Amino acid sequence: MSAQAPGTPNQADRIVWVALRSVHLPLQQAVSDAKVLSGRQPPLAAVSLLFAEIESAQGHSGLGFGYTLRSGGPAQYAHAQELAPLLIGEDPNDIARLWSKLAWAGASVGRSGVAVQAIAALDTALWDLKARRAGLPLAKLLGAQRDAVPCYNTSGGYLQAPIEELIDKAQQALGRGIGGVKIKVGQADQAEDLRRVAALRKRLGEQVPLMVDANQQWDRTTALRMGRALEQYQLEWIEEPLDAHDLAGHAALAAQLDTPIGSGEMLTSAAEVTAYVESGAVDVIMHDAPRIGGITPFLKVASLAESRGLVMAPHFVMEIHLHLAAAYEHQTWVEHFEWLEPLFEERLEIRDGCMRVPTRPGLGLSLSERVASWTVARWECGRRA
Ligand SMILES: [Mg+2]
Repeated sequence: MSAQAPGTPNQADRIVWVALRSVHLPLQQAVSDAKVLSGRQPPLAAVSLLFAEIESAQGHSGLGFGYTLRSGGPAQYAHAQELAPLLIGEDPNDIARLWSKLAWAGASVGRSGVAVQAIAALDTALWDLKARRAGLPLAKLLGAQRDAVPCYNTSGGYLQAPIEELIDKAQQALGRGIGGVKIKVGQADQAEDLRRVAALRKRLGEQVPLMVDANQQWDRTTALRMGRALEQYQLEWIEEPLDAHDLAGHAALAAQLDTPIGSGEMLTSAAEVTAYVESGAVDVIMHDAPRIGGITPFLKVASLAESRGLVMAPHFVMEIHLHLAAAYEHQTWVEHFEWLEPLFEERLEIRDGCMRVPTRPGLGLSLSERVASWTVARWECGRRA
């Protein structure tokens, strides 16, 4: 598109085409966290994704996505098909209004979970479109605080990996410029959890930022006891020590430990995350844009978390969260997983402990040709410009 003269107002545009794609991406190796070892979930072997592409009458386009793990993918895809036609004819700039319109359309199935997760891919595509249209990376459209965000690796730290593999993967991650390492804990054998943390700290040294994630498998007593045993390792945070909805338990634990407490990934609406932020129940807020309905609700929570001075470490999907973390005022982290890389043409640049915000417009992502082989369903409405 030709550039407009400075000061020329953008004419209202309208959405003419929306396409959805359901993708089932197998992982190279199934992974197990403490939810698996406690028998509550099977090992994680794949990620289901919902991609949304939006085009406007003026020829602007956006790409967004959301995801589910283990189940819910077909429901998300089906609900998005009900919502997407409501965007046709609408001005893609009015993202907040459109989020509300889609949420009201699905009001009888609630304001959380799949009901809003189906909106997330569409909402993210609208943000991508707006930033692409402005010729800016999304982080800069939002008002970037930084051009690179500290990152830590999670994918090497699962419980099926023996200690030596854990250490090897951690050293590989640090060797390629990643800034920290998180490992899973929460096993029934708590002494084994502590052995793994001790071994990793010893081998990596005192300076490397380390985190642990119990994936909700401790009760309050165990969490306090383990939290106290872990204080000596100077962890960046202890993640999901308790049931994700035990707000009072998190608040009590955070008050009793020096090590910061993090949670938020299992919450599925802005309202649920807001309750954690407002009550001071966590030190590190770890919400997830696709899980709470997209970038629009994510930013509302981030704004509140900023006013409380919280650390923000969004869960998963570094491809989206990198931009949102770059626009956050206080200390922030992005979670490094290489899992989704095959879906995209581009790679995020990592060095000196940080992930660099791409200079490309929007999210800076385009779908790779390989996505076709993992696509299980496609659907579209409207007509391309
Ligand atoms: Mg986690």
